[in-house]
Amino acid sequence: MVFTNWARNQSGSPAEVRAPASVADVVRAVRDAAASGRRVRMVGTGHSFTGVALTDGIMLRPHALTGIRSAAGDRVTVLAGTPLRVLNELLDERGLALANMGDITEQTVAGAIQTGTHGTGRDSGGLADQVAELELVLADGSVATAVPGEDLFDAARVGLGALGVLTAVTFRVEPAFLLHNRRRKMSLREIFASLDELTSANEHLDFFWLPHTDACLVKTNNRHPGPARPPSPAKRWLDNVFLENTVFGAACAAGARFPGLIPRINEVSAAALGDSESVDTSYKIFTARRDVRFLEMEYAVPRERLAQALRETRDLIERMDWRITFPVEVRVAPPSDAWLSTAYGRATAYVACHIYRPTPHTAYFEGVEEIMTRLGGRPHWGKLHTRDAAYLGKVYPRFADFVALRDRLDPRRLFTNDYLDLVLG
Ligand SMILES: Cc1cc2nc3c(=O)[nH]c(=O)nc-3n(C[C@H](O)[C@H](O)[C@H](O)COP(=O)(O)OP(=O)(O)OC[C@H]3O[C@@H](n4cnc5c(N)ncnc54)[C@H](O)[C@@H]3O)c2cc1C
Repeated sequence: MVFTNWARNQSGSPAEVRAPASVADVVRAVRDAAASGRRVRMVGTGHSFTGVALTDGIMLRPHALTGIRSAAGDRVTVLAGTPLRVLNELLDERGLALANMGDITEQTVAGAIQTGTHGTGRDSGGLADQVAELELVLADGSVATAVPGEDLFDAARVGLGALGVLTAVTFRVEPAFLLHNRRRKMSLREIFASLDELTSANEHLDFFWLPHTDACLVKTNNRHPGPARPPSPAKRWLDNVFLENTVFGAACAAGARFPGLIPRINEVSAAALGDSESVDTSYKIFTARRDVRFLEMEYAVPRERLAQALRETRDLIERMDWRITFPVEVRVAPPSDAWLSTAYGRATAYVACHIYRPTPHTAYFEGVEEIMTRLGGRPHWGKLHTRDAAYLGKVYPRFADFVALRDRLDPRRLFTNDYLDLVLG
C-alpha cells in the first residue's frame, strides 16, 4: 500500500497497515511493533504537507476509531480518529460547539492537534488549547491519561505523534453560538495603519493579501445574539464552491500556464472583491471547502513583528519578480501553554504562503522563510519548512523538556520517522 497525502507531495509505503477499532487494538499494534523491531504511527487524513505522518513500519489508519465516547457538562470525549466535520455535527446535535477552529474540517481530531492546527482568535487559541484531557498508548504499551498540571499533558497536546498514539481526546466545549461574519476589501496600507485596532476589536480576524496588488480581503467573525442570517444555498455555492474553488482553480491553472498574466489575474480578483456579511452557526462560518490543491508554508511570528514580516514579504515578492496567484493569509492567536504550540508563550501572528500545486515553490518559500526565521518565527509542524532541531530548540523555550520526555517515554524511537528525526533530533 502506498500512502499519499492530500497535497500529493508526500508518500510512503508502510510495511503493514491496520485499522484499530479499540484501545486494545492500538496497544496490540504498539506491542507488536516493539516486539518485531518496527516503528508504528497513526495517521490522520493526510492533510499535512510535511512528512510528519509517514512511517515505514505499522501505519494505523484512524477510520475505525471515531465517535463520541462520553459527554458531560462542558467536556466531550471523542475517539482520536473522529473527523472534525463529524465532531462539529455531533456537538451541534447536543447544542455545543468548539470555541475556535481552522479553515477546514477534514482532519481527524488527533491529527489536527498533533501538529498544532489553529484558526484565528483574539482570545481563543488553536484546537490543542481547547483540549482538557488526552488518552494515549505509550511505547511500553501502557495506556496513559494526560491531565492539566502534568508535563505529559503540556507536551502531548501538540506532540507530533512522537510521544504515543492518541486514542481519545477530551475537549472543553461551549454552548453552540452564532458568528457574525463580515468580509470587506481593505488596502494593505489601511491594514498596516489599523492592525492593532483590527486585532483588538474582533474576536476572529483573518485577512488575505493578494500579491501584485495592494488589496486584501478582510474577514472578521464576532459572536452574535441572532437571529441567524445564513447565506442562501445558492450564494454559499457561488462564493465557496464556484468563486473560491472553481473560478479560483481556473485562474490558478491559467497563471501556471502563463505566469506573465498573474499580476493581471490578481488585479481582476482584487477588483471583484466586495463587501458581504452573514450570521450563521460558528463552525459553518469558521470553515470552508478547499478543492484547489496547493502547497503551504506557514510561520508563527511574535504578534508585534507582523507588520514587518508582511512588509518584507511584499517587498521580496516584488524584488524577485515572482508570480504568485495565491493570497498570503494572516491570522492571530493568544499565547498557548502547549510546549510545541507555535503560539507557545507569546501573542502570535501567522503568515501563510501558498503555491498552486504544480508550480515550483522552493525559491518563494525559502525566501519568505529567511524573513520569518530572522524574526524568530516558528514553522507550522504540518506545513512545509526546512528547519531542524538546532533551530527549533532556540525558538521553543520548552523544546529540551519535550525531547527529554520523549527520551524517557520512547527511548527506542518506536514512534519516529524521518521528519521527526529532523525536527526533534
Ligand atoms: C486544505 C488544507 C487546509 C488546512 N487548514 C489549516 C488551518 O486552517 N490551520 C492549520 O493550523 N492547519 C491547517 N492545515 C494543516 C492541517 O490541519 C494539519 O497538517 C493537520 O495535522 C492535518 O490533520 P490530519 O488528520 O490530516 O493528520 P495527518 O496529516 O495525517 O497527521 C498529522 C500528524 O498527526 C499524527 N497523528 C494522527 N493521528 C494520531 C494519533 N491518533 N495519535 C498520535 N498521532 C497522530 C500523525 O502521525 C502526524 O504526525 C490545512 C491543511 C490542508 C491540506
